[in-house]
Amino acid sequence: MNETTQSVDAFDRRYPTEESCREALRDARWPNGVTCPKCGKKEKVYALKSKPFYWLCKNCKSYRFSVISSTIFENTKKPLKIWFKVAYLMLVAKKGRSALEIHRTMYGDPFTADYHTTWYMCTRLRAAMRNQTWEQLMGVVEIDEVYLGGKEHNKHRSQRVGNRALQGKTEVIGAIARKGNIVCQMVEEADFKTYDDFVKRTVSSKVDLIATDESFRYRHLRQMGYPHEFVTHKNDEFVRGRVHTQSIESFWSLLRRGIMGSYHKVSKDYLPLYLAEFSFRYNNRKNPDMFRELLSGC
Ligand SMILES: [Zn+2]
Repeated sequence: MNETTQSVDAFDRRYPTEESCREALRDARWPNGVTCPKCGKKEKVYALKSKPFYWLCKNCKSYRFSVISSTIFENTKKPLKIWFKVAYLMLVAKKGRSALEIHRTMYGDPFTADYHTTWYMCTRLRAAMRNQTWEQLMGVVEIDEVYLGGKEHNKHRSQRVGNRALQGKTEVIGAIARKGNIVCQMVEEADFKTYDDFVKRTVSSKVDLIATDESFRYRHLRQMGYPHEFVTHKNDEFVRGRVHTQSIESFWSLLRRGIMGSYHKVSKDYLPLYLAEFSFRYNNRKNPDMFRELLSGC
């Protein structure tokens, strides 16, 4: 049995019926009891006896909602079991899996179902991965940038701004707490405001150290009050005690390999979604139930 067959088998055992999916979604969405999506209250919310997985909120003029109300699963005619399977296949592949690969695994080749629907589901699921709450990074934090998209070969020599090899590529900036989480975003405007705002948003003011390379992008960090030190890559200085950018560089290579291996190339429009997917997978790498975590953000 290959990896994919095993995962599909495991999935079918865990979620054998539509009802088991509804239960799982209910428990992931509302671990502390069913809450009305309109008013956010738990009191005066009553289960409908005639209709399983439907509730009535007496705070909201008897507003009726179901387990899929206000989720990405709402208004789609697809059973939860199909949604879950797409999500599951996406998450179990460490290097990512394209919508096309997922579709092929589910329906065989030639296709017996509409590919566009699977593609749409993958897109919505990736968007849901952006909904995860996160805390500002602490401890030792590395910040770095990378260029992605366009043609992915011959990339390592093309990191300098202004290099012609960068045409069609998009800059991504990221911050990672050592042994902790990654946060990254696409750079729309390559200016100090973008870089400074990114750091302010993602890194706690109580951070022990921010480590970067010598890039001009991080020139303001000390002025902004952060304990900032850098290594000078152009002088072949890569590690100086605690100062290095190796954790974030390994995340970049994971991301790049994933994009190359499964997606071949990614347009600027969809890059934020792939960043969300890879960050989600990385930040949940020690979470024994990544799938449930995803459901809670759907
Ligand atoms: Zn309500």
